[in-house]
Order: sequence, then structure tokens, then C-alpha cells
Amino acid sequence: SKTSDKLSAFLESGIYRFENSNVVFIDPVRMLNRSYTRFRSSPSAYYSRFFDSKETIVTSDSKKRKRKEKKTPHDLNEREQAATLRHQQARPMLLKAHGFLMEATDLLAIMKDLRGGSNICSSTELSEQHSFIEIGKVWQAPLYEIILKGAWKGLERVVPVFNNLVVNETSDDMEAEFLNNKYILPRESCFYMSDLGQVHNLIHECNVGFNLIVIDPPWENGSARQKLRYPTLPNWYFLSLPIKQLAHPDGALVALWMTNREKLHNFVQKELFPSWGVSHEATYYWLKVKADGSLISDLDLFHHRPYECLLLGYFHGQGTNSKQPPRLRPIKHDQIIISIPGEYSRKPPIGGKFLMLVLPLISIELLLEHVADFKPARCIELFAREMTAGWTSWGNEPLHFQQSTSFVRD
Ligand code: SAM
Repeated sequence: SKTSDKLSAFLESGIYRFENSNVVFIDPVRMLNRSYTRFRSSPSAYYSRFFDSKETIVTSDSKKRKRKEKKTPHDLNEREQAATLRHQQARPMLLKAHGFLMEATDLLAIMKDLRGGSNICSSTELSEQHSFIEIGKVWQAPLYEIILKGAWKGLERVVPVFNNLVVNETSDDMEAEFLNNKYILPRESCFYMSDLGQVHNLIHECNVGFNLIVIDPPWENGSARQKLRYPTLPNWYFLSLPIKQLAHPDGALVALWMTNREKLHNFVQKELFPSWGVSHEATYYWLKVKADGSLISDLDLFHHRPYECLLLGYFHGQGTNSKQPPRLRPIKHDQIIISIPGEYSRKPPIGGKFLMLVLPLISIELLLEHVADFKPARCIELFAREMTAGWTSWGNEPLHFQQSTSFVRD
């Protein structure tokens, strides 16, 4: 019955902790649902990939890559060697974590059904997305407005959608209308939709002093597939992010999503974190599996690792030179989060603010635990494509995953 307790906890929370380990399996859909009262995130919309066991990572130049794989160690240049070393260090941990999953037969049985049977969203429905990135660039952008509709009739507001802090201050989901599409805004959340050029407006528009800052930059990776999805930026652009101004003066936890390029790791450690005043403290891994539990690609495939890294660091704040900001808890190292990926580049919702409130007894080392001494923790996501209850979302398309077609009514 211990296992069935664990399963029912998972079905409730979306989090399955492998005992005596640093590994969790999560169902992002269940975690996202904590942000909503009248709506639920649609599993079939979230899990648009990786339920077909035949789906594998295939790239146009995979043949060329295969040839590259065959290089012997001394054919590798310095950077490739460093990347291989980094991978070799993580590899045993990741294999062990994957082993836990493959042994959890009860969980594996449930995983196959996470997408659910009914309500499969048709892909045409999902493709009728507005491109906020394109609309935001036209000269008329400042004239575009969004209609906010609160739970009570009569509570209707019309506000500019770009370069404006759009707030749902109520404790209920809010529906919003933009160019005949509907969007769902979670309770006590807000978004600021703008280009990076206007990111500094955040400092004046919202109450700064964030305790948790999650950042998923549009890193360049040379993949044509990626370029179709969203524009990318050269690394040096991210030096201009106003982390120091956004962070709480007493310190903040900064979580940065990475790609597996060695050049990027160097840049972040040597330039980006130092310029933000952030010290690197720990690395978490997101291991990506298919619905049948298998890895989405071969663990050793050089250019398509089935995992991504999340770097955690402290912003130390003013006048402190202690290792750890006074009100932040120590970070656990090498945590591994396993999940079935959603749409291209969509990251699992590790920060969900209400995690700790809903599950105070389950100790999970997802992000909020480290900022638990700030009540309530103030959180912001940069380059966000979605919103979370209690959070501020900034990016050039923070409504991307908020379209009502991605939700079902409770
Ligand atoms: N974390 C997100 C998720 O889980 O869905 C994915 C973020 S994606 C890696 C990077 C985002 O940055 C994309 O939405 C992209 O459109 C946005 N972006 C690219 N260039 C930008 C710019 N100049 N200003 C603001 N946002 C930009």
C-alpha cells in the first residue's frame, strides 16, 4: 500500500518522488493545474509529442552527426573534450535516475495514460495561434488592446496588450479576449509583453524585489527547427537583463535554463553570472522521457542529449559577502527532474508558487523551498511563454500557452 499511497499522491500533486534519491518524476499538467480554479490544463494539448513510441529525434543532418560521433577521443577539439567530460560526470546520475523510473512499474502503467483518452485537441485548433511576436513588431502595436473579463459580469477592462503590465489581481481565473481569441489568466498573476529592448520598463512598472527569478533565454543553437518557433539572440544580449534591479536587495535565487553547448556553459560561468552578480551554486537536470518511459534520444548522442541543465545561483544583494544570502536556504545539489516533454522548448513548471502551500508535508526540492523564508515569495519568469498564479511573466509572447484551447473547463 506504500506504493499506492505514492501513486495517489502523484495523481493529486503531479509529483512522484523516488525514495531516498534526488529524483522526481513530474506530470506538468497536474502541476500547472494548481494555478487555476475554474479551468484545467488540457493533457492532450500539453502532451502533443512523445506519446507515440516511434517518435524519435531525427534531424536533417543526422547522418553527418553520426559520422561525427565516431570520432575517437583525440580527434575531439578542446571544447568537445570539455563537453564530453561534463556529460561523463552527469551520466551515471542520469542512468541511475532513469533506472528508478524503469523499475517503478506502477508509475509506468499510469504514465501511458497521462495524455488521457478523450478531448484530444485537433492540431488545427492549436495552430490558430496569433503570433504575438509579429503583431508586437508593427507600428500599430501600441494600439492593440486586450479585454479582461473577471468572474463577475461587469468587471470588464480594456487595456493595451503590449508594453503594459496586464494584471489579474483577483483570486480567480480571468478570461481575456484578444483579436477574437480567448486567453485564461491565472489568479494573482500578471504579464508584461515586450521586446528585450523594453525590459527595463519592468523595473518601474512592477513591484520589484523578486526572490525567485527563472530565466529561459532564446539561446542560439543553430537549429533551423528552432528558428521557425521563435527568434533567438546572440549571448551578449542577455548581459543587459536587469537582474540586479529586479532581485530582492536581500538576495534572490536565480534559475537559468541552459542548452548543452559547451561554449554557452563557459559564457554563463565566466561572463553572464558575474555580470548579473550571481554565483553558481548547483546544477539540476531535466531528463526527458517518452510515455513508455524510454529516453527521448540516446543518452550519448552528442548533439541531442535527452536532458537539459538548469543552473541555480544566488544573487547576493547589497552589502552581503557571505556565501549564502541570509534569508535563502542552502540549495541541494544534482536534483533530477524527469518528465515527458510538451511542445518544442517548453520547460517543466518547476517553480509553481503554490507548491509549498498545497503540499507542506511533502519535501520536494523544486525551487520554492529555497525561498520559503520570504512569505509570500515573489517570483518572475523572464522569456516566459505562459503564466503562473502569483507570478509575473515577461517576454515577447507570455500568452502563448494561455490560449483557451489549451484548457478545459473544470
Ligand atoms: N520557458 C519557455 C517555455 O517553457 O515555454 C520557453 C522560452 S523560449 C526558450 C525563449 C522565448 O524568448 C521565446 O518565447 C521567444 O519568442 C522569446 N524571445 C526571443 N527574442 C526575444 C526578444 N528580443 N525579446 C523578448 N523575448 C524574446
